[in-house]
Amino acid sequence: MTATQTHCPYCALQCGMTLTPELPTRLGMPGVRLEPAEFPVNRGGLCAKGFTAADLLDHSDRLLTPLVRKEAGNRDSPLREASWEEAYERIVTAIRDSQDRFGPDSVGAFGGGGLTNEKAYALGKFVRVALRSSAIDYNGRFCMSSAATAANRALGIDRGLPFPLADVAEARTVLLVGANPADAMPPSMQYLDAGRANGAKHIVVDPRRTNTANGAHLHLQPLPGTDLALANGMLHIAIREGWVDEDYIKTRTEGFDSLNKANSYWPERVERMTGVPEAQLRETVRLLATEGPSMILTARGAEQHSNGTDTAQAWLNLALALGLVGKPFSGYGTITGQGNGQGGREHGQKADQLPGYRKLDDPAARTHVAAVWGIDADELPRPGLSAYEMIDRLGAEGGVKVLWVLASNIVVSAPHSNNVIDKLRKLDFLVVSDIFRSETADLADVILPTAQWAEEEGTMTNLEGRVIRRKMALPPPPLVKSDLTVLTELAGHLGRGEFFSDEPREVFEELRRASAGGIADYAGITYERIEDEQGVFWPCPDEAHPGTPRLFADGFPTASGRARFIRVDHRDAAELPDSTFPYVLTTGRNMQQYQSGNQTRRVRALNVALPEPRAELHPDLARRHGIADGDLVELRSRRGAATLRARLTDGIRPDTVFAPFHWPGANALTNPALDPHSRMPAFKACAIALRKAEER
Ligand code: SF4
Repeated sequence: MTATQTHCPYCALQCGMTLTPELPTRLGMPGVRLEPAEFPVNRGGLCAKGFTAADLLDHSDRLLTPLVRKEAGNRDSPLREASWEEAYERIVTAIRDSQDRFGPDSVGAFGGGGLTNEKAYALGKFVRVALRSSAIDYNGRFCMSSAATAANRALGIDRGLPFPLADVAEARTVLLVGANPADAMPPSMQYLDAGRANGAKHIVVDPRRTNTANGAHLHLQPLPGTDLALANGMLHIAIREGWVDEDYIKTRTEGFDSLNKANSYWPERVERMTGVPEAQLRETVRLLATEGPSMILTARGAEQHSNGTDTAQAWLNLALALGLVGKPFSGYGTITGQGNGQGGREHGQKADQLPGYRKLDDPAARTHVAAVWGIDADELPRPGLSAYEMIDRLGAEGGVKVLWVLASNIVVSAPHSNNVIDKLRKLDFLVVSDIFRSETADLADVILPTAQWAEEEGTMTNLEGRVIRRKMALPPPPLVKSDLTVLTELAGHLGRGEFFSDEPREVFEELRRASAGGIADYAGITYERIEDEQGVFWPCPDEAHPGTPRLFADGFPTASGRARFIRVDHRDAAELPDSTFPYVLTTGRNMQQYQSGNQTRRVRALNVALPEPRAELHPDLARRHGIADGDLVELRSRRGAATLRARLTDGIRPDTVFAPFHWPGANALTNPALDPHSRMPAFKACAIALRKAEER
């Protein structure tokens, strides 16, 4: 009975766990016993999702064979089981027909931040080399893109945390903006708790009093969509009080003089815009400036806005002005959400990127990657559309007509879901690869069953930039294939099979060469090193290099070697409350669920703990509408409606309603207005109305 040490299938913490073989399960598949491992990130901790992750492996809902429509071309006809050859034949016929009629870009793929590095890399290559299409993006566009764009602009590199998570325990002041790790990744709280036990002060910025905010020294509750003004107001105070680090600004940064230091961010005005008292602003800046080392950590609450990049930039400006970045136990970081949200954006799934975090429109990058792939650089397509832009043009002239969705459930997770469903229905052909039927798969022509986290090999890159190995503990069910195998076999059917391998180690070796010299340089990382060193931090340019747990100690990878201040000014949220839609909806996570819930909604213990979504309302707001705790409440925006059971709490602003996004509903309401820099939709603030709904 050999135990396998691997990692959780869910979030970006990538907790270590041990799987030990057990008796066959009810599906006749090998069983496993799951226990937490002493990995440096989780140190023996797991959350409820991690503890129950083995339930996914033998779940009776698993897809065990390909499914196709009984009547080809009619998505209203029932699904039936099919052989892989029949499924491939239908897919390849659809691809060829579409590309003959509408050109290469009429076929595209939508990937996911849960794919291993090897799969993310192979998918980006498949679209550009086998399909010769520019149409690829992924759900990380909805997750990390704002903070990534801001970090690239200011620091010359985007790595979620530029330091190991353990450094958080050593910081004396930590400002968490729109982050709720107590619910999203509970084992990470051990570092915040350790800091607090040693006297560290934590400040949480969130319109809700979350479990993270409950333990904080200070809780700031701004109106959703006003974080940029909050950050600029704090910068104004730092300058006024002489708390900025002038020596750091002079020697390590550029562009400070370009910032708006005018009176527009007087704290009194910021107080009116955000609803946060001036005294809290001042106390936050005082702690950050005078009780260091200090960190500013942002997450989706700050970033998923139509001004998300500028908002992350404003927090970066504050961190730079206070001289935090590149010093021990100090700095700015963003807390990545999806399991491989970090690696998923480094290896070519993004519409504008090539492996190694290279830019697709950079001639040198094209030449380098094309040489590794064995093609001519001119064969590489140009950058395509971002995730929501691609979805919004599905089926339209010049848009994608045949789409392959992997590791993503966009009917639940993309904004303005009614539009997403409409556009998916306009496709000529939809293929979905997943482990369970999802709301997106329900609309597909062909559904492909894929192997799971514990049934295959691969690497992931966690929120710290630590590359880790997921290992195979048991084989997949007989007719279930790894996405790597499917990519390779489909490429073969398209006449490009010689460019692909379904052997993860071979794909990783090629990824190392493709990333060499890029920003996310994996050249020195091997499977053996990952094993021996409990993960290796990129950049790691050669095998003698120790990896880079901490960035920026000696400078920044910008042209001048200095970090950049970038002036950003407040813009109102894309949609403000008015007399018809008088409240603000913000969305987020529950502890028991993960992403679109396609996996966790099927885990019995998690569903017992939280069987349905709850809309959180302040009692004053509920009273005005005659709503009691547990009543059904209908939420309406300009785009759709959702009915959820109400949970009354005085921990939320009276003008704001919270809805979790793990079930269909919340994203029927959200606004797809895009951030101009990152193309991030405005998930975290839209205008809604509400009323008590009748019991069903
Ligand atoms: Fe898994 Fe994240 Fe929970 Fe860790 S915190 S067990 S990685 S879901």
